Amino acid sequence: MARVYNFSAGPAVLPQVVLQRAAQEMLDYQGCGLSVMEMSHRGKTFEGIIANAEKDLRELMAIPVNYKVLFLQGGASLQFTMVPLNLMVKSKKADYVHTGAWSKKAITEAKKIGQVNIVASSEPDKFTCIPDLSKAKFSPDADYVYIVTNNTIEGTVYQTVPNTGNVPLVADMSSNILCESVDVAKFGLIFAGAQKNIGPAGLTVVIVREDLIGKAAGLAAMLDYKVHADDGSMFNTPPCYAIYIAGLVFEWLKAKGGLTAMAEYNRKKAKVLYDYIDQSKLFKSPVKKENRSLMNVPFIIGDEKKEEAFLAEASKKGLKTLKGHRSVGGMRASIYNAMPIEGVQALVNFMAEFEAKNK
Ligand code: PMP
Repeated sequence: MARVYNFSAGPAVLPQVVLQRAAQEMLDYQGCGLSVMEMSHRGKTFEGIIANAEKDLRELMAIPVNYKVLFLQGGASLQFTMVPLNLMVKSKKADYVHTGAWSKKAITEAKKIGQVNIVASSEPDKFTCIPDLSKAKFSPDADYVYIVTNNTIEGTVYQTVPNTGNVPLVADMSSNILCESVDVAKFGLIFAGAQKNIGPAGLTVVIVREDLIGKAAGLAAMLDYKVHADDGSMFNTPPCYAIYIAGLVFEWLKAKGGLTAMAEYNRKKAKVLYDYIDQSKLFKSPVKKENRSLMNVPFIIGDEKKEEAFLAEASKKGLKTLKGHRSVGGMRASIYNAMPIEGVQALVNFMAEFEAKNK
């Protein structure tokens, strides 16, 4: 059976070797005589799986020892609520940078819990860039500053991590975690839904500085980072199978040379696509050059009929899920870590073919 090139924004492409390994281990995980899906999370075997996954993630991201790694559920969306519940504990105020659909949802949820100050917004630019933060009026007493490092729908990324001084920086890294190295120490909390660069949906990874947790009183246990941290992400049954696959993805990343090598590969891949778009007379990138994402590449023709024809023909060629998000239209190629450069090349070859026929 031929595998297609899957450009979905998430759930997204996974490394083929990871899927093959999972298939091999499906019926009998390393001589246990059962699959990872069927085993107790309290048993030695699963304890080993989750411990290894955490160890490899710590190694890949060079996570300092004073940070907890949590394997949670509820998607990245639950973090829109857990972050303010756990962190809005002193002034009950937080600064948010508004860069698109996902910051909007986070802002909506945070407003239900405390005071939200929008310090900068790229809405006037239709979210085609990251706003200039040099003139933003951050509140010195904010409990945290919140950013979305990579905007999955709009295709924008921060070039530098904002310096928020003593105010902890919280980052939604759902769509660019593990695509390159980041200095974790610059953040108070990082979270990411797994279904892009980590593994299957159902798992959310939270990396949080120890001193930020356990400060909110009276939280429901499932919403309290401290409870999950104290129980090693085993307060209740964790998403075992998703953690196992994430562990295989981390092993794959290490075998590929870690995040430095992955970043180089991702830059090479994205360049193939952006270079083609920039010289094209038919396709355009709506995103300001300095904020172009390495992971999510939106592009447009500006003629709906031609865009529909492009998507239909691309699909027939095995280039799948290239439709832009329903809120922005056009096309979007998500080219996460597991998308091979051959997939990007195949897309560009098809774009050239389509352009030649649609001058
Ligand atoms: N944040 C970002 C940046 C996302 O791309 C997404 C989902 N694609 C979410 C949050 C929401 O994630 P979930 O569906 O896991 O709640």
